Amino acid sequence: MGKSGIVFDMDGVVFVGDTPVQGVRGALMDLRAKGVCVLFMTNNSTKTRGAFVQKLRRMGIVARREEIMCTAYGCAFYLRRKYAGKKARAYVIGEGGLFEEIRNAGFEIVNESLAGGKAGFGTADAEDFNGNAGRIADFVVCGLDREFTYAKAAGALWHLQRKAALFGANADPTLPTESGLLPGSGSVLAMVEKASGKKAFVIGKPNAFLLLEHLKRHRIKAKDALFVGDRLDIDIAVANKCGMHSVLALSGIAKRKDVKNAPEGCKPQWIIKSAAHMREVLEKLKWA
Ligand SMILES: [Mg+2]
Repeated sequence: MGKSGIVFDMDGVVFVGDTPVQGVRGALMDLRAKGVCVLFMTNNSTKTRGAFVQKLRRMGIVARREEIMCTAYGCAFYLRRKYAGKKARAYVIGEGGLFEEIRNAGFEIVNESLAGGKAGFGTADAEDFNGNAGRIADFVVCGLDREFTYAKAAGALWHLQRKAALFGANADPTLPTESGLLPGSGSVLAMVEKASGKKAFVIGKPNAFLLLEHLKRHRIKAKDALFVGDRLDIDIAVANKCGMHSVLALSGIAKRKDVKNAPEGCKPQWIIKSAAHMREVLEKLKWA
């Protein structure tokens, strides 16, 4: 067997909102002590990898930037590869983290004035919404934006009516918080898709691209890797698609009863109460 690794989805597995899932910190330390490579992945596009390092650190979990794959960084990486050698322009719907990663990847952002969530436009003429008249974006990339406005959607539409391609960080309809669900990135993306008639190419899970890239960078083969997630249609689906071992943690969205009705590709190999119970899976796998 090669180097073994476990990829943990973050929201609903390692933490819920800003609250760490009980016992997970200790479980991660145990895994590392056993020599298992511990990696993190999230469809969340609002933060840079560095910001996730900080967030984990506040919960007492030590992680390096390279151990984290988030969709702000992941979208920038994917798009950099797609537009390699071209001076491409971006129109971004998202929060500071997505703007920062897209900027760091060397793209010119035509609506830079909207970075940080400012609404930017006050009138209702289509020409006023483009972000920067005369510079047509090559692509629109859309992540979660908790200050999403009609004006931002109108701006995206202006570029999409010309030549821009449409990309989404993820299609997650909702965002779990300690007090319940909020509209997710997929709900924001849905408005842009509806208005433009264009279907976005979704870069985050359940697309396997970023997960396979994450494993490759750490020299881990899919067959020697586990994915621990809380959503059947996204996490378990992507793990199964990649040929990884799939583990459902019941600390987030999916409940035990949801598994029975899940389509075949979305059924987990194992179910645990939370990621604090990784030992049960390791014993079955004979990794313990
Ligand atoms: Mg999750």
